[in-house]
Amino acid sequence: MSHCRLTKIVCTLGPACASVEQIRALADNGMSVARINLSHGTRKEHEEVIARIRTVNKGRAIPVAILLDTKGAEIRTGDVQTPLTVHAGDEIIFISESDKRANQPGFVTVNYDGFAKDVQETNRILIDNGELSFDIVAINPDKTVLAKAREDGEIGSRRHVNLPGADVDLPSLTDQDWDDVAFGGAQGVDFLALSFIRSADEVEEVRAFLRKKETPVALVSKIETARAVENIASIIQASDGIMVARGDLGAEVPFERLPAIQDEIVVRCSDAGKPVIVATHMLESMKDHPIPTRAEMTDVAHAATERTDATMLSGETATGRHPVTALEAMDRLLRSTEAHIARFTSPSDIRLSEDEYDARSQAAVNLARTTDAAAILVFTRSGRTAQQISKFRPHVPVIACTNEESVQRVMTLLYGVYPLHIAFGEPEETILRGMEALRTFGIVPKGSRLILVSDVPKELADWSIQQRTL
Ligand code: PEP
Repeated sequence: MSHCRLTKIVCTLGPACASVEQIRALADNGMSVARINLSHGTRKEHEEVIARIRTVNKGRAIPVAILLDTKGAEIRTGDVQTPLTVHAGDEIIFISESDKRANQPGFVTVNYDGFAKDVQETNRILIDNGELSFDIVAINPDKTVLAKAREDGEIGSRRHVNLPGADVDLPSLTDQDWDDVAFGGAQGVDFLALSFIRSADEVEEVRAFLRKKETPVALVSKIETARAVENIASIIQASDGIMVARGDLGAEVPFERLPAIQDEIVVRCSDAGKPVIVATHMLESMKDHPIPTRAEMTDVAHAATERTDATMLSGETATGRHPVTALEAMDRLLRSTEAHIARFTSPSDIRLSEDEYDARSQAAVNLARTTDAAAILVFTRSGRTAQQISKFRPHVPVIACTNEESVQRVMTLLYGVYPLHIAFGEPEETILRGMEALRTFGIVPKGSRLILVSDVPKELADWSIQQRTL
């Protein structure tokens, strides 16, 4: 039996993988969470994709969870008939598209009135996450900005603009985002990824909005600005999960800082017991090629070594030429790296526990290690115990049995957790049902040693750890 992968994979759906058959192929090859990027497509298309994921989920022991990613308050260039060719050294004038002069030739328009003000906080303008960059030459009293190209390139319609280091004065959530948040709640999706979150208050605001509508959704904050990095501790506290959105983040902070910021966020999240997704450009070259570059292989392996909960594919699956091949490559790299690092886990990994709950979870993980158990079988109503055990990065899968389907789907993102849906009843009956579900699921060989953990007070003991044989 091959190593059971502990790091989860989020796949972005798009034109290259939008049919039921293509989504099923991704699910069969290891996609745990399907991401729908609301920056592209129409509401109707998003509804159709959600319905297709649900069709694929029918009859699956572990359903694919749905993550809606909001567009966020992005600065973009305006629409142009033909892309503007730029040569290094050319001087370009940027202007807000609401300015009366914006449709005259000679300007590059941006969709943000505060551009000339916020540009004062940086010395550079980046287009397409840094593919093309400009040094700022002058910020004019008429609110135009003169900038000099650092390299050759093109500016097409609606290109993404970053002002590195500037605290852009846009609300993190636009009217469109609030509408999308309400849509996600009404559709009953499992996660909402919030773009350009800068503070914990913004996360709380979204949570309160969804609570009022009685449509709670787990909130994943995307860390993609310098301000969010500054506020990382409180944002993690307020969120249900975090995404290291390396595309924008790599343009907003000096890129040499990105690896250290990623590592810090992953460590902070695992300390806090909150799932974390490492996203963007993981296997970028596979949009065009059937094999990854050596550097991409090492990037995926690094994420597995630091035991991130999940890695993400973006354009590789959404628009690339080889969506399933890219997923297979990520799966192989994660499995192989996990098998390698399992050999080096030592008791020095034991952490000081913050409370009794933490101590018990850690005890279950260590018991599994020292007794050579093949899996940890958890019975949980809310998912909390599975999340807590996952926090201690077990080296074997955590089979989390719950009687709540929505809890099952949210647990798909957690490191090492394979959530199964069973009915709860009398204690022994529930345990036998869980073991039967595990046998049918088939990832743990018959006769294997199991560690059983339960936080289901009425049906099972208050909080118990037991050993059984499958
Ligand atoms: C990112 O910037 O890395 C990201 C995931 O966000 P988006 O794809 O929406 O730009």
